[in-house]
Amino acid sequence: MKYYSTSDSSKRASLEEVLLKSIDANDGLYMPEIIPVMPDTFFSEMEHLSPAEIAFRVTKPVFGDDIPEDILKSIADKALNFEIPVVKLSDRLYVLELFHGPTFAFKDVGARFLAGLLSWFAGRTGREITVLAATSGDTGGAVANAFSEKEGIRVVVLYPAGRISPVQEKQITRAGRNITAVKLQGDFDDCQRLVKMAFSDADLKKKIVLTSANSINFGRLFPQTVYYFQAVSKIKKDSDRIAVSVPSGNFGNLTSGIIAARMGLKISKFIASTNINNSVPIYLKTGIYTPHPSFKTISSAMDVGAPGNFKRVLHLFGDNHKAIKNTISGYWFTDDETLAGMRELYESYGYLADPHTAVAYLGLKKYMDSNICTGIFLATAHPGKFADETFRATGTVPDLPAFQPAGDSVRVASPNDYSFVRKIIEKSF
Ligand SMILES: *Cc1c(COP(=O)(O)O)cnc(C)c1O
Repeated sequence: MKYYSTSDSSKRASLEEVLLKSIDANDGLYMPEIIPVMPDTFFSEMEHLSPAEIAFRVTKPVFGDDIPEDILKSIADKALNFEIPVVKLSDRLYVLELFHGPTFAFKDVGARFLAGLLSWFAGRTGREITVLAATSGDTGGAVANAFSEKEGIRVVVLYPAGRISPVQEKQITRAGRNITAVKLQGDFDDCQRLVKMAFSDADLKKKIVLTSANSINFGRLFPQTVYYFQAVSKIKKDSDRIAVSVPSGNFGNLTSGIIAARMGLKISKFIASTNINNSVPIYLKTGIYTPHPSFKTISSAMDVGAPGNFKRVLHLFGDNHKAIKNTISGYWFTDDETLAGMRELYESYGYLADPHTAVAYLGLKKYMDSNICTGIFLATAHPGKFADETFRATGTVPDLPAFQPAGDSVRVASPNDYSFVRKIIEKSF
């Protein structure tokens, strides 16, 4: 399998290049040349397969030319070693719980699979790989946990001082010897800006192999297709039309869903559900895409004004607004609406949802008001991770998953300054 980039579809890259670079020199994102359609036998058997087995079968036609079968199987087994339940709320309403991984957020799925892939490539090339990530909270924990003690890999996570929760900070600073936590005197946008500077630093990239664990990396994005297959397979076939609502920020999750549909999975509609960072719902409505600086909300992991994966979505539909609208509907919600959605889920179904999940529920409900279908919304974080908001909305304190890694916290304090951060990345401080 070869890969093209959204910035230049005439050039081709190998899987190794795709995983070790994440983006090309012109900020283009990689996509496989062909999206293989899964055979009928797979669809008739998938109901009986575990998430790890689905992961192996689905990734094989794409990664199988480059990675030996037994290695790929072991990467899938280790990454998907937790449950991904589909919970039925009513006859036509389901929720897919993606938060049963070690850091209680859906990002565990892609981050763990990517860690397995990169670790294998590090061993094969014999070069240490440096993974760089900026986080506003959830990504850092999932990435640090997934890559902890992985051979041949060093991870540098930049997080904004004083702006992530104590639990999130522990998830990053206590993750292991190969994880360098950088506490930056700045906000999340500063962290992202410094990471971008490192990726466009040609001199730095001559010295070290530097890649990303964000969903711009195809190795994190593609394994997320797995749970879409899992969800559809578990729904009793009471409807021909299935709609899936995805709480979206950087649009990696939704892009994975569209790829799953291109592989033959019967999903007739995707709902792009966002908070007031609504550049994609507005695009769907008007055909005009206007990225903007991000606004702060209670569904903080979706506070993205310029979604990185949107260019992949455009590419998948040949930039055709009408074609995109046929497949994706978009809705956006304020924080007050989100809290009301959390309350409604609790009062109507006895279901505790975190704010991101509630946004997905609200988008699905809006769509189902005027469309007959079976609906699934994705639960991307455990409500216990957002205990304050959950309490505010429902008066109930969710059980808090106690993910508190033991040991000492290790971190490097850094000024908001690229030359300092670069020294940390290069290990020359
Ligand atoms: C990252 C995140 C999202 C957004 O996912 P994207 O792939 O960036 O669209 C939604 N919910 C939670 C809890 C997240 O951590």
